[in-house]
Amino acid sequence: LVRVENVNKNFGALHVLRDISLTVSRGEVVVVIGPSGGGKSTLCRAINRLETIDSGTIIFDGKPLPAEGKALARLRSDVGMVFQSFNLFAHKTILENVTLGPVKVRGIPREQAEKRGMELLERVGIATQAGKYPAQLSGGQQQRTAIARALAMDPKMILFDEPTSALDPEMVQEVLDVMIGLARDGMTMVVVTHEMGFARRAANRVVFMSEGQIVEENTPDEFFTNARTERAKDFLSKIL
Ligand code: ATP
Ligand code: MG
Repeated sequence: LVRVENVNKNFGALHVLRDISLTVSRGEVVVVIGPSGGGKSTLCRAINRLETIDSGTIIFDGKPLPAEGKALARLRSDVGMVFQSFNLFAHKTILENVTLGPVKVRGIPREQAEKRGMELLERVGIATQAGKYPAQLSGGQQQRTAIARALAMDPKMILFDEPTSALDPEMVQEVLDVMIGLARDGMTMVVVTHEMGFARRAANRVVFMSEGQIVEENTPDEFFTNARTERAKDFLSKIL
């Protein structure tokens, strides 16, 4: 579904992505892990073109990423994104947060969008909160709203950038459980996370990124028990 080929990205003198190549197939769950500043977020942002690249190509669904216009808007709805910081609209209710995209971008009638929105809120376990505002919800509930909002656009894949890093520990699992459910249902997912339990249960592949390079790609079991590279071993010894 996505093919990243020899991608390079610089921020001024900083070479943030160094000749990155990565393929994500339909239905696959890829966990991206690695030290801070390694380029994980930049790679995610490049895949839905929140960030431009300096060289290389990114193919999504058989076509190079569009640069602008309707095709770019389409890409952004095909590739959902869930951030560490929820990014919900503070002055919209939970249900409005989930229906806004389908109504405004996809032109779906409000009534239909609301019906689907309620189904999605049900799926992530917060249908009873539909009329509330984000600030009235816990972090875990807000993040589950963000996941429902991404799903409302019928994405072909979802990128998660440290979706549980800003959460209180007791809320992490409720969000991971929703993500594990999505993985089981066959959603294509790229997930930046250090949650090993999630990687072991849901990931097909772990990609270890450091200093702008993909240093190792491995199965979760192999990666966590028997990493091939010293850099990965060193990183794991610090987080385990
Ligand atoms: P973290 O685990 O801390 O989230 P990361 O692996 O996601 O790190 P990135 O956010 O992709 O890393 O950042 C890679 C490097 O690029 C860092 O050194 C960062 O400071 C730099 N960087 C990221 N975005 C920009 C920007 N817009 N302008 C300049 N430098 C940037
Ligand atoms: Mg990051």
